[in-house]
Amino acid sequence: MSLMQHDTATSTPESAPAASADAMARPVAQAPADKPVLIGLDRTELAEALAGIGVPERQLRMRVAQLWHWLYVRGASDFADMTNIAKDLRAKMAEAFSIRRPEMVSEQISSDGTRKWLFRFPPRGAGRPVEIETVYIPEEGRGTLCVSSQVGCTLTCTFCHTGTQRLVRNLTAEEILAQILVARDRLGDFPKGETPAGAAVPSEGRLVTNIVMMGMGEPLYNFDNVKKALLIASDGEGLSLSKRRITLSTSGVVPMIERTGAEIGCMLAISLHAVRDELRNELVPINKKWNIAELLDACRAYPGLNNARRITFEYVMLNGVNDSLADARELVRLLKGIPAKINLIPFNPWPGSPYECSDWEQIEAFAEVVNRAGYASPIRTPRGRDIFAACGQLKSESERMRARDRAAAETAAAAS
Ligand code: SF4
Repeated sequence: MSLMQHDTATSTPESAPAASADAMARPVAQAPADKPVLIGLDRTELAEALAGIGVPERQLRMRVAQLWHWLYVRGASDFADMTNIAKDLRAKMAEAFSIRRPEMVSEQISSDGTRKWLFRFPPRGAGRPVEIETVYIPEEGRGTLCVSSQVGCTLTCTFCHTGTQRLVRNLTAEEILAQILVARDRLGDFPKGETPAGAAVPSEGRLVTNIVMMGMGEPLYNFDNVKKALLIASDGEGLSLSKRRITLSTSGVVPMIERTGAEIGCMLAISLHAVRDELRNELVPINKKWNIAELLDACRAYPGLNNARRITFEYVMLNGVNDSLADARELVRLLKGIPAKINLIPFNPWPGSPYECSDWEQIEAFAEVVNRAGYASPIRTPRGRDIFAACGQLKSESERMRARDRAAAETAAAAS
């Protein structure tokens, strides 16, 4: 889902923003993708990999624990740094495996301190290398990383820029985790890491405190890889992110919602955006497959749901489309009985987008109806708009350039 949520909407980052958009764009050279990668393997797979290079059976458990610690607690990206592992084993691992970081094509920093990274991953059979975006949103007391799950998306939600980019492929568990690892590298959020001078980050504690699967793609159409990555991210002996601080957002892949709660156990967000099927069929076309009633039934049955573990319903505010007070009242009626939070998201326009953001007065009036009904419904202050990092704006830069080229060619053809 390309809709990010920020729980402290109006808070200000602790430090001043570091630089303007594009200020830090820079290519980073990486090793070629020629060796099996250990990032993203579970412990059993890691043990198999180590056994394959001759690590004795009796040592496997200890070696896996060491590797896990170096990869996910210390953030190592070079076997040479693993100083409590014998030199010859480090050399063997380096010869057989890779723990390299992906290529970071650019890093952009918004005037509000939001950061957006463009990563390039190998083709993995899809023809050419692929690119995805990841966004870091610093706020008072928290740092939220918005992670992508697919390259492009099949779902064509009409308010979403990613939806205009066709699906190229699913990201692997390694590629999903790599977004977290590189973000922590860049922010200096691993031991011995250095936070860039002037970076907007929380004033104390960890710098990446929350993960939202709300970047490019529908995570429940890539369930196995997303599950594997999130279970590694929440492992208490590694990255150790609490499952209460991991939110998976879906457009409404109803058959996978129960499994998300039972097998991943993270928080759930629903990209709702409309209270009538007719309109939701248009805004979120997956609604034609699983309508609002079926979606809300699945939400009511979400494992572990209670007042302390509420489902977040995201609602993008589109001028004259879904923002009437009658819509607000219907939203309240629909969610009755579901422990829920409602996120009102002012629409973030992108080139060629067919909608406008609702007037601020209308958003406040809508929020008033929802708040009176007892739902905390913060209005999300747009973040990172100047670098196209805000909700619904993600799309790979090369796709953006191709779209610009197409538009220029069409203009030239029309003029000739
Ligand atoms: S098109 Fe829909 S499902 Fe796909 S990324 Fe955008 S909002 Fe999410």
